[in-house]
Amino acid sequence: MKFNTKTIHGGQKHEPSTGSVMPPIFQTSTYAQSSPGVHKGYEYSRAANPTRTALENAFASIENGTHGFAFASGLSAIDCVLRLLNPGDEVIAGDDLYGGSYRMFTRLFQKYGLKFHFVDMDNVDNVTNQITDNTKLIWLETPTNPLMKIADIGAIATQVKSINNNILVAVDNTFATPYLQKPLDLGADIVMHSATKYLGGHSDLVMGALMVKNEKLAEELHFIQFAGGAVAGPMDSFLALRGVKTLHIRMQRHCENGKAIAEYLAHHPKVGHVYYPGFKSHPNHEVAKKQMSDFGGMVSFRLKDVSKAAAFKFLESTKVFTLAESLGGVESLVNHPVTMTHASIPEPERLKIGITDSLIRLSVGIEDIDDLISDLERALL
Ligand SMILES: *Cc1c(COP(=O)(O)O)cnc(C)c1O
Repeated sequence: MKFNTKTIHGGQKHEPSTGSVMPPIFQTSTYAQSSPGVHKGYEYSRAANPTRTALENAFASIENGTHGFAFASGLSAIDCVLRLLNPGDEVIAGDDLYGGSYRMFTRLFQKYGLKFHFVDMDNVDNVTNQITDNTKLIWLETPTNPLMKIADIGAIATQVKSINNNILVAVDNTFATPYLQKPLDLGADIVMHSATKYLGGHSDLVMGALMVKNEKLAEELHFIQFAGGAVAGPMDSFLALRGVKTLHIRMQRHCENGKAIAEYLAHHPKVGHVYYPGFKSHPNHEVAKKQMSDFGGMVSFRLKDVSKAAAFKFLESTKVFTLAESLGGVESLVNHPVTMTHASIPEPERLKIGITDSLIRLSVGIEDIDDLISDLERALL
């Protein structure tokens, strides 16, 4: 099946007792057994629930994986991956991560003896230079949030595996989605999503996903999901599955609108740098072109007036773009990383990587492009 069919049919079966085309919301915690231990494959909904199973099969299918897992949030999916590790193990992660991932690494897991190295992943050598005998996991995001840096997934996976084949390579694919790039095909071991964003796509749920293509790794992750307990509920699983079915057409429009807005901003006299991997001037445009089929709906930019007041005036003026955390929904959102999504990153770290007051991040939705541009036009007056 091609991707645009997989989003709708991948891993899906009609419900056997009624032929129901969509899986019902199996709003149940437990399942009747005819004799102790004799059941129809479901015992207790923390271990498995049929609505979640349908979604997990869809998740696996769209990333070309064999197994998918649905979690209570994106962060609980990351938490599950980190629980594969033991005290003393080392992780090499990008230096421009989602703020919550950084917070989890440094404030939750560091105290259990995991060691984290944060490096600029747009150069593969920065990753391989940090590898020691204790390195167990590479954690990367591409494009990054909010600076839209690009890491070469294939090159990193190949070089890391040539040094030590047991090091796991995990990719947070939230920004790109499998519509644009498929990390498992490029050599990664684990794909993670905040399904809260594009996979769900309607800003109506919080959920995480993991996808893998290795039986042993799938078993380990399933054990942690079951034993840790941070599972997605049946209602949210239903909503996310419904969202996945339109991922390809939503993404097509997100990409079209994102490109138009990036170009509009790049020519605006009040706008400074525009961060968009689709521009030839983007330092990793060639890598982006190689591993992504298009450039997505996330665009960050700087106002030339670097004052906080100028940024706040803009952020308070948009009407179609809603000032809110999160991204990837059908509606356009605008965000101020310093005070919102990236507030948990200590100021010196933030300044070092360029997350300053003048930086604004847009999640470009699928509304009419004319309305989006006139909204920005008004706010930039
Ligand atoms: C939102 C987000 C997360 C965290 O996911 P939640 O669903 O909010 O827990 C992780 N990575 C990226 C890139 C995100 O945008």
